[in-house]
Amino acid sequence: MERTPESYFDALYETDADLERVAERLREAGMRDISVAAGYGRLLTLLVSASGAVNALEIGALGGYSGICLARGLPAKGKLVSLELKSEYAELAKANLTAAGHGDKVEYLVGEAAANLRQLKESGASFDFFFIDADKENYPLYLEACLELANPGAIIAADNTLLRGKTIDPAKQGPSVQALRQFNLTIARDARLQGVHLPAYDGLALARVKAGAD
Ligand code: SAH
Ligand code: MG
Repeated sequence: MERTPESYFDALYETDADLERVAERLREAGMRDISVAAGYGRLLTLLVSASGAVNALEIGALGGYSGICLARGLPAKGKLVSLELKSEYAELAKANLTAAGHGDKVEYLVGEAAANLRQLKESGASFDFFFIDADKENYPLYLEACLELANPGAIIAADNTLLRGKTIDPAKQGPSVQALRQFNLTIARDARLQGVHLPAYDGLALARVKAGAD
């Protein structure tokens, strides 16, 4: 395997049975393993716990890898709401979170994330932490929806900001690429956000939703 800064650091960590199980189940189901990178999974756990988040929202569940990472950072009374298009993925993710000891913390809302985000807004829900990792064309829309659901000081994380290099390749102009460029610019410039971009792996954006005073 090619040695990269990412693979060097990843190899320092002990294997994680609960996360290995997710990869195994994805393989068994013949699903592509597009779970968040190991280092960013660790970062999500760290940020959720360091921020003291109690209610977290994930957009895009797949097999529950990032769900486990998010749930691990939450306190015992914490809750994770996860939006997933496909019911069979939500079921797989639920089984994997349950096997990891976090099944009681998570609720899956199946269907188009945009529709479930509207429902959450109507129900008056609000969150302290967001992880955006579903269909890339909708990242700008998801960011706005997260801002509407955010408690002051909430953290927003979003995966795959580099789209395997396509984001920085001027020859690439497809809808996902254009959406990610717009999303990345908003993270950098929007007055409501304090943003930062991490270029390791496939890129991760982080932002803090400013509170009234800052
Ligand atoms: N966050 C996961 C990986 C998510 S992969 C992890 O790191 O473990 C992207 C997921 O988004 C897939 O499961 C896909 O089914 C889901 N998805 C794609 N389009 C969606 C949509 N419109 N609404 C909700 N989920 C969607
Ligand atoms: Mg991703």
